[in-house]
Amino acid sequence: MSKIKNIAIIAHVDHGKTTLVDALLKQAGTFGEHEKVDERVMDSDDLEKERGITIFSKNASFHYQGYKINIVDTPGHADFGGEVQRILKMVDSVLLLVDAFEGVMPQTKYVLKQALEHGLRPIVVVNKIDRPNSDPDAVVDSVFDLFVELGANDIQLDFPVVYASAKNGYAKIELEDENKDMKPLYDMIMQHVEDPEGDASEPLQMLITNTEYDEYVGKLGTGRIYNGKISKNEEVTLIKRNGDLVNGKISKIYGYDGLKKIEMEEALAGDIVTIAGIDKIDIGETVADKENPKPLPLIDIDEPTLAMT
Ligand code: GDP
Repeated sequence: MSKIKNIAIIAHVDHGKTTLVDALLKQAGTFGEHEKVDERVMDSDDLEKERGITIFSKNASFHYQGYKINIVDTPGHADFGGEVQRILKMVDSVLLLVDAFEGVMPQTKYVLKQALEHGLRPIVVVNKIDRPNSDPDAVVDSVFDLFVELGANDIQLDFPVVYASAKNGYAKIELEDENKDMKPLYDMIMQHVEDPEGDASEPLQMLITNTEYDEYVGKLGTGRIYNGKISKNEEVTLIKRNGDLVNGKISKIYGYDGLKKIEMEEALAGDIVTIAGIDKIDIGETVADKENPKPLPLIDIDEPTLAMT
């Protein structure tokens, strides 16, 4: 099984999502070797790189202790209802990022509610603890109240908490700790985010949860590989939602190295990647093994068009 962890970040605007991701990416190299688990940076055409595909522009990946950690951005708006649902389906946990001064804001509530309904157990990150007059303990209390209000179960209510100053690049488990780096947050992710289920030796099954059109490589599909592996130039079968089968060939596989979009030769079960080459691809469809095409369960695909704008 490939060593992968998939998380999304839920945050009200300005609570520090960008800064936190930057700090996580920056320090990841510091702790342990920068291993390449299952991807290879290709010589890519500079022009194409420059005109880069902007779908999921805030997604990122980094390596830690032999694992590849995929961070998927979530739009914090009810307008993106369908997209939020689909993103939450791809991940195994979420980081709920809350400003230690401002506390819980209404815009995080909607996505958090969805995450709890999906059965995910959030890791709460109280950020900006360096801010004068911030009250991290009171914020944790109000997060707890919010979980209760949103109907969290006992496991979810027992959420792990990390205190952070993303701007200063540190995280801690107890407020009085003197820690000066992000290590406690990495460790929390390693400990609390479950490894994806799935088997890389089974026939390929990838669920498409978002699509976009790129004028250079055509229609793109993003999603999680549930079983098997997918390789560049592989012939696959696309299973439409009505059961129709369409043959196609994978021309490109994209992942992330930090914030940079990279081409991959192959990707394994558990990973979240973007593929090109199948122009008929749509949300909710399964990309499957050509010899043994089996569909994944159908997903809700409300409001897919809104998510593309
Ligand atoms: P995003 O909108 O959630 O992506 O938030 P940003 O990462 O862009 O941060 C919003 C603002 O908060 C910026 O001015 C950051 O410098 C600031 N900020 C982020 N993290 C911290 C922190 O830990 N402490 C303080 N004092 N400011 C922070």
